[in-house]
Amino acid sequence: LYGYAGNTLRIDLSAGKVEKEPLKKEWVDEFIGGRGFTSKILYDENPPNVEPFDPENRFIIAMGPLSGLFLPASGKTHFCTKSPATGGYGDSNMGGHFGVNMKYAGYDVTIIKGKAKEPSYIFIDNDTVEIRPAGQYWGKGSTEVESAMKEELGEEYQILTIGEAGENLVNFACISHDFGRQAGRIGIGAVLGSKNIKAIVARGTKSIPVFDPKGLLKKGKETYAACREKPGFKGWTPEGTAGITNWCNDVGALPTRNFQTSHCDYADKINGKAILKELKITDKGCFACPIPCGKYGHAKTKRGNVYVEGPEYETLSLLGSNCELDDIHGIAYTNYICDEVGIDTCSAGAVVSFALECYEKGYISKEEMGMDVKWGDLDSIVHILNIIAKREGIGDTLALGVQGAAEKIGYDSSKFAIHVKGLEWTGYESRNAPGMMLGYMTSDIGAHHGRCWVLGSDVATAVGGDKNATVHDLISGDSDFDTIPKADHKNVVPLVLKSQHLRPAFDILGTCRLQYMEIGLETEYYEELYYYATGKKMDFNKDLLLLSEKIWHLNRMFNKREISDFGRKYDYPPARFYEEKIPNGPNKGHVMDLGVIEEMLDTYYEARGWDENGIPTQATLEKHNLTV
Ligand code: SF4
Repeated sequence: LYGYAGNTLRIDLSAGKVEKEPLKKEWVDEFIGGRGFTSKILYDENPPNVEPFDPENRFIIAMGPLSGLFLPASGKTHFCTKSPATGGYGDSNMGGHFGVNMKYAGYDVTIIKGKAKEPSYIFIDNDTVEIRPAGQYWGKGSTEVESAMKEELGEEYQILTIGEAGENLVNFACISHDFGRQAGRIGIGAVLGSKNIKAIVARGTKSIPVFDPKGLLKKGKETYAACREKPGFKGWTPEGTAGITNWCNDVGALPTRNFQTSHCDYADKINGKAILKELKITDKGCFACPIPCGKYGHAKTKRGNVYVEGPEYETLSLLGSNCELDDIHGIAYTNYICDEVGIDTCSAGAVVSFALECYEKGYISKEEMGMDVKWGDLDSIVHILNIIAKREGIGDTLALGVQGAAEKIGYDSSKFAIHVKGLEWTGYESRNAPGMMLGYMTSDIGAHHGRCWVLGSDVATAVGGDKNATVHDLISGDSDFDTIPKADHKNVVPLVLKSQHLRPAFDILGTCRLQYMEIGLETEYYEELYYYATGKKMDFNKDLLLLSEKIWHLNRMFNKREISDFGRKYDYPPARFYEEKIPNGPNKGHVMDLGVIEEMLDTYYEARGWDENGIPTQATLEKHNLTV
C-alpha cells in the first residue's frame, strides 16, 4: 500500500494486550485515511450506546496517506471517540510531530479500548509497544509532564499528555503536545483520562513506501515554492489566526461578554499586532509547515511570568473579549493555565463567560463560586479555570460544559448557554451571519468553526464584495463599518455544504487545511501529491468531496444511533441568538429570525437528502453505499 505505513495497532488496556494487524484494504479503498478512517471505525467498532467514559468506548488515532511525507504541513493527527460533550460522534485534530512518528513507527491507525488498572502511559518505539505505569506523572500539568518525559526518555520522543482536567473527566478536557499544540475539542482528553492514560509516547524511524519517490519529491518542492509565492503568505505567517481579530470586530462578529454582543472597543489591545509587540519570542510551526502560524511568547502578569504558545484567535476572542479581558498578557496567561490543566481554550472561554453571567445574575452564589468574581478580571478567570479542572465547588457543575451546567443551575441560564449539541460555540458571533450560523447548527460534532467557515460570504452578502475571498483577502481589504445591513439568508446552503465538504478533505489526506483556506493553494497540488504518494488518481472536487459527503451522512447516522431522540431539535442555536438583539456595534439591532432558522434547516436537509427531522433517507444512504 503506497502512502501508508500498512498497519493497525490495537491496544486493550484492560487485558494489557497489544496486537498489530495489516491495515484493512477496504478502509483504504473506501475511506482513504484520517477522518475517513475514524468515522468508519467508530461506527463499526464502538458497541452501540456505550457511554463515553465506559472502557469499551474506543479512542482512535488515524493518519492520512500524505501524513509524514515531507510535503507542506503534512503533520496533522486525527483523534476520534464518542464525545462526552455531545454523546455523539466526536473528533479533534492536532498539529505538531506526534502523528508522523506514529506513522514512521509503522501505524496508520491505532485503536485503544479498555481501562488500565493504574495510571499509565503508552510507550511506542517502532515495534515496541508497552503499557507502562505513570503514577509519578498523575496530577501534574501537561507541559510539566512533557518536559519530564523528554528528560526521562529522550528528546526525540514525541509526547501527548492530558492534564488534571482530563484525569478529572472534565467534559472539555483536551490533549496537549509539543508545548502548545492541542487536540482541543469534544472532550477527547477526558476519554483518555477515563482510560487511566496520562500520556502516549511515540518514536518512529521506519520509512513509508511511496509510488513515485522522485515525482513526489519534485512535486513537494514545487508545492513549498507555490505556498511561498502566494499573496497571502506574507500576510498570514506574521500573526497567524490572530490576524483576523480586528476584521471580526469591524464586521460585528467578535464574541463579547458571553455573546451578549459582537463588538468591543479594545480590539487593538488583544489582536495579532499586540501579540507581536508584547509577547512574541518566535514563530512556531507544525511538522513540515511552510507557513508557521504558532507564536511562542512570554507573558508577564501580576500572577507571574509564563512562556506559552498562543494565544490564537479563538483564545483571544473567547477568553479575551467574551470574558471582557482586555489585556494581552492576561489572555496569554489564561491560555497557559488552560494548556497546563489540559482544557480546550474555546470551551473554557465559553464556560467562564457563562459562569460570569450566571454570577452577575445571582444564579451562582459567592459561596458556590469560592470568591467574588468579575468580568475582565484575570484572578476571577483563572480561579474559575482552576476550580473546573479540580472540580471544586461550582467547578464540578461547570466541568459539564455550558449545556450540562445550565441544566443544573436552572433559571433561564439555558438561553445564554452558547452551544450546539452540547459543544460550546467558538469565536464567531453569528446573529447577522446566517451561513455561519447554519454551519455551526448542522455540524456533526457541535458548534465548531473547523467544520464550516463562511463568515466572509455572509458579510459579502450584506455589504457587497467577493463571496469567495480568502481570509487574507478579507483582512487586507476595507472592513471598517459603522453599520452593516441585514445579511441575506437565501442561497447560503450551497456555500455551507461546500465548506462542510472541503474541510474533511484535508483531515482525510492528513494535511493542514490552512494552506488552501488561508493562502489559496490550489487543490490540483493535492491531487498530484496524492498520485505520486499512492499511485492512484483522485479528482479532489469530485472523488474527495464525495467522500467528505459520505462521512457527513455516516456521522449523522452515528449520532442517530447513539442519541435516542436525535434529530432536528439538535440543530438549533441557543435562544440568545434568536431572542436578543445585538445591543451595539456594526450589527446593532440584528437578531436571527426563528422562521429563517427553520427555512434554512428545511433547505439544508433537502439538499443533503435528509428527511424533515434531519435524518438521511434510505435513498441517500444507498446512493453513498452506506449500510448502517
Ligand atoms: Fe500547523 Fe499553522 Fe502550519 Fe497549519 S498553518 S500546519 S496549524 S503551523
